Amino acid sequence: ESVLSILEKVAVDEVLSKEEIITLLSIESEEEKAALFKAADLMREECVGPKVDIRGAIEFSNYCIRSCNYCGLRKENRKLHRYRMTIDEILAVAYRMKEMGIKTVILQSGEDPFYTVELIEEIIKTIKAELGMRITLSLGERSYEEYRRFKEAGANNYLLKIEAANQKLFYKAHPDGDWEKRAKHTRWLKELGYIVGSGNIIGLPGQTVEDIAEDILFFKKYGIHMIGIGPFIPAANSPWANLNPGTVDMTLKTLAVTRLVCQNVYIPATTALATLSKEGFIKALRAGTNTIMLIMTPPIYREKYQIYSNKNMVNLDFAVECIEKAQRELPSYIKV
Ligand code: SAM
Ligand code: SF4
Repeated sequence: ESVLSILEKVAVDEVLSKEEIITLLSIESEEEKAALFKAADLMREECVGPKVDIRGAIEFSNYCIRSCNYCGLRKENRKLHRYRMTIDEILAVAYRMKEMGIKTVILQSGEDPFYTVELIEEIIKTIKAELGMRITLSLGERSYEEYRRFKEAGANNYLLKIEAANQKLFYKAHPDGDWEKRAKHTRWLKELGYIVGSGNIIGLPGQTVEDIAEDILFFKKYGIHMIGIGPFIPAANSPWANLNPGTVDMTLKTLAVTRLVCQNVYIPATTALATLSKEGFIKALRAGTNTIMLIMTPPIYREKYQIYSNKNMVNLDFAVECIEKAQRELPSYIKV
């Protein structure tokens, strides 16, 4: 089956099979890639319109009790200087974001039990009461009761990436992980009424296009609304520090195919992609993505949140420049 006939199927709203998804992910020629990106750009335009949603992330703790092989925050990394932000520090950043016109604050951290359910509740409630912003949590795995209490306190969204839908690949990356648990938590978050985020990493060692197709079908099957797709970038002082990074090319194809399959969802152009290539990041804005997450972590902590090395600074200037180059619109409430 040819690429063009698959893209025509998408245009008339036919559901793609796993084989068809694999065919699209395997595209090599520049012409066919351009056709794929164009189709994804049109789908994005149709489903979510011309605007890029800008969100701000506060990486409030780099302590982590887990051992993901790809990540520089894993607990075994003794070389990393660890930090935790106080409620007041977090609020000060949220205030700045509100002033910029940003509507959603993403609270992200390693899996850090120091932040008890009560402490996180207090952060959520204070941001809600004082600023009325939407809140996305990305704290890793918590108990059902904790997810429930965060939701009740006012959290709107929760990001918990499956990372790899294929279990063999998942366990290779997560020596202390439990795939079923991760999938179960994803279902819980949906049941609790969160807008749920998932995602994967492109270029994990041994990953095939078939694995990536399974990721995309996982997002579809679980009704995921925010899909973070970023290339693997080696992190210093991690077991995978010396492996090759994922490619910009495969990341862009995955973004585009995910837009075609999942349609009306939020898909960010990720910081990890910006770190590999600014051009790739701009291309992503014309290949199906509709969200940018600014890193709003205070400069004194920012360089310590080293999930991978040489992390690029996605700030408002960078975002605006890229959006302009991609000829797309900022949301009108963002003040520049
Ligand atoms: N600790 C929480 C968790 O794992 O869900 C949230 C923070 S974690 C740093 C956020 C995401 O960073 C993970 O879902 C993972 O996909 C991504 N990440 C970590 N290390 C990475 C690397 N070396 N390359 C690309 N993405 C990475
Ligand atoms: Fe911890 Fe998240 Fe990094 Fe895994 S990806 S080591 S859970 S911060």
